[in-house]
Amino acid sequence: MTEDFAAVLWALGMGAWLIIRQPYRVKARKTKVVNDRRSLLERTTLGLCIVGLVAIPALHLLTGVFSFANYGWSPVQGWLGAAVMISFLVLFYLSHKHLARNWSVTLEIRQDHKLVDHGVYSRIRHPMYTSFWLWGLSQALLIPNWIAGFAGLASVALLYFSRVTKEEAMMRAQFGADYDAYCARTGRLVPRF
Ligand code: SAH
Repeated sequence: MTEDFAAVLWALGMGAWLIIRQPYRVKARKTKVVNDRRSLLERTTLGLCIVGLVAIPALHLLTGVFSFANYGWSPVQGWLGAAVMISFLVLFYLSHKHLARNWSVTLEIRQDHKLVDHGVYSRIRHPMYTSFWLWGLSQALLIPNWIAGFAGLASVALLYFSRVTKEEAMMRAQFGADYDAYCARTGRLVPRF
């Protein structure tokens, strides 16, 4: 695989991400929110995710602005990146499909919110965040540049570590003992068997 082909794959991954999310974004607008835990920190980390996962790599691939931080390309790294990108998209799609109307881009409880514990949620509590880590990893593999490649993982780390404990506290406040039992049989990012 060439570096140019890897850049095209990265761009296709971005397109697929937008296409997968769009119908859920539209549906979410129609479902009432009953408990809104959005904070400035959360909005900021979400914004930084767009910067790290989209804006910085796109800017670099279009203009070469971070070329001073390039490192040597290996086709094997590119193929690995493609495999990780496909796993990101599959997990991202399935977590949207199984979370369905309970999905929100921020921390919110919706009207008639159900605790989803089937499908990809049966063994992992945060499969969508697992998919974000895979997204960041695929970017690091597809773009051989210390800045543009790793900006995604850095922004996912910020979002994940600032949000996951708050999200679990919100879910525990809403679902009580059911959520505790769910936590006991699931892993946060990797499956628990
Ligand atoms: N953390 C999950 C979901 C991300 S979307 C994941 O990584 O897959 C964030 C929203 O999903 C939260 O605001 C919360 O309302 C909702 N949520 C998270 N886990 C859920 C679950 N198991 N069942 C129902 N809703 C959930």
